[in-house]
Amino acid sequence: MPTPLSEFDLIAQFFTRPARRADLGVGDDCALLSPPPNTQLAISTDMLVEGRHFFPQVDAAALGHKCLAVNLSDLAAMGATPHSFTLAMGIPDANPVWLSHFSNAMLTLADRFDCELIGGDTTKSPLTTISITVIGTLPTGQALRRDAAQDGDDIWVSGTLGDARLALGMFWQDWQLSVSDFDHVRRKMEWPEPRIALGRALLPLAHAAIDISDGLIGDLGHILKRSGLGATLNVDALPLSEELRQQPRERQIHCALYGGDEYELCFTASPEQREAIFALGRQLHLPLSRIGTLHQGNDLLLENAEGESIVTDGMAFDHFRSNK
Ligand code: ADP
Ligand code: MG
Repeated sequence: MPTPLSEFDLIAQFFTRPARRADLGVGDDCALLSPPPNTQLAISTDMLVEGRHFFPQVDAAALGHKCLAVNLSDLAAMGATPHSFTLAMGIPDANPVWLSHFSNAMLTLADRFDCELIGGDTTKSPLTTISITVIGTLPTGQALRRDAAQDGDDIWVSGTLGDARLALGMFWQDWQLSVSDFDHVRRKMEWPEPRIALGRALLPLAHAAIDISDGLIGDLGHILKRSGLGATLNVDALPLSEELRQQPRERQIHCALYGGDEYELCFTASPEQREAIFALGRQLHLPLSRIGTLHQGNDLLLENAEGESIVTDGMAFDHFRSNK
């Protein structure tokens, strides 16, 4: 039996790298940072718990990627540029193979966005629990806030919607998918891509933005509530993957409207920005779809392309019931 890894060996082996932009990184009681001049810090924490946010048998690399990706996605939704992050982890045992897959995938994603691991905490825990705090920077006063949407704005969404929900339905055995369709949507669920470049480029173009972690209806609802506006969505304009388009129409709409774990951005912008936003999508090779408009009121209405109102299965407005 190899000697079990101590907490300090584990940190040194898998989570310590030379400090780059931090003044002091992993290894002391605190990390030290000097924020660039004229910037605000954008700070966000997301926790992932075994059995709640991921299946116990999930691939360690996918988990390492996703834990950081969902946090970076919050930075993207504010238009922030990643700077650094801390990692708190509770794990049942120090399995070096698991840890190396987990940390390699996480640090590979971190390197892609030049986001430095500056510290954390490591403890034994019956269930794997990962909590990350990301720090980003923003030109002062320019963040894409949920409360900044304006009457008459277009509503936009990046990428395609509903694929993570389609994969989840297969895990739950609610429906069957072909092996290749499942592979594709499962990848979208397990390896989400934070839309950092999009968020940054939207700073001068968009008014409000949010990343879709709990489903389009619920997350757009946060923008509506905070901005004091209503919206009409065109369900025929929802961008769907090839895989989802092969499903029954009701399932397509359900997955696209209510599916969580998307990590696409939903944002609002003046109609004057349409051309610039389409051009941005082409430049980023990321489809950007205009799916509705904002207006006075506090309701979220669904229509088809002919402008006829659509009723879905009722869950739609739960988020609004908590409006009080
Ligand atoms: P303390 O006793 O002050 O809580 P720790 O012994 O928990 O310090 O951690 C030692 C150093 O290792 C600290 O700099 C801490 O930020 C860092 N650290 C602990 N766990 C992790 C981790 N999973 N990833 C990165 N850094 C970590
Ligand atoms: Mg500690």
